Amino acid sequence: MKRILIPVVAVILALLILVPSSVSAYTLLGPKWLSVDPLLYWWNYYDFEEDPIGLQAWWDSVQDWNGTPTPVNYQWTWGGSQVRLGKAIQPNAGWDGLSTIHFEGDTIVRVTCAYNWSYTRFYTPNKIRSVTGHELGHSLGLGEMGLGSYALMNQFTSGPGSRYDGYGIYTPRQDDINGVNAMY
Ligand SMILES: [Zn+2]
Repeated sequence: MKRILIPVVAVILALLILVPSSVSAYTLLGPKWLSVDPLLYWWNYYDFEEDPIGLQAWWDSVQDWNGTPTPVNYQWTWGGSQVRLGKAIQPNAGWDGLSTIHFEGDTIVRVTCAYNWSYTRFYTPNKIRSVTGHELGHSLGLGEMGLGSYALMNQFTSGPGSRYDGYGIYTPRQDDINGVNAMY
């Protein structure tokens, strides 16, 4: 499934073209947080009333990232103003996860992430976790990696060479960790 990053469209597309990171395997979006310790996030439980598996996936992915050897420290806070985690229902979207990055200058100020239940409803729990973990990677400032990349930031969820179907990845790998540590 193709995964798309659509934030402030024109701006981020320009960034993606101008900053397709260099020697390292990981790519960076460009803007980043001033600090990721802590990073205040929240979700509205109402969004997940009929999809507790999706909520569990967000929770697991938060723990996955918090457990990496990086400064990342997501903290759930009521109304947490920095990262909002949610669920979308868009049957014809063509994406199973989406992150919108709001930034000012070089600084990320707010991110919204969602998985697309129209697709993830057919996924196993770990495959959903692969999507939520990937989106959290975007929330930190990581960009996409191509088909065949052994990383959570591999853009694709399904099919040969994809992150989950291809390699069974649903937690951050070394490349993802290197990317985050290059930023923070
Ligand atoms: Zn992506």
